[in-house]
Amino acid sequence: MYICVGCRKEMLCDKNGVGANFGHGHVYASDRYKCPICGMMILATNIKAYYDPNLSFQDEYLNMDGGGNENRRQLGEEILTSKARRGGSRQGKAWT
Ligand SMILES: [Zn+2]
Repeated sequence: MYICVGCRKEMLCDKNGVGANFGHGHVYASDRYKCPICGMMILATNIKAYYDPNLSFQDEYLNMDGGGNENRRQLGEEILTSKARRGGSRQGKAWT
């Protein structure tokens, strides 16, 4: 369970299949959670990254190299990179 500290409410899963993209194929698969009161969003990632150089396994990707303010803007304005699911496995091989 994830709890919004400010609102003291449980955050709810807002979207599955969001990749936290650190570049060069270095991606953490995650689910996105959102506070139902204030709208704060977080990504709950897997512990291990996987290799996804073409950004083809997740529905959306959040680029992690843009800095905090830019990432917040991306979430608010839905500039997330959307990728249609191309079938097959959603999980690439482990990042090594
Ligand atoms: Zn909140």
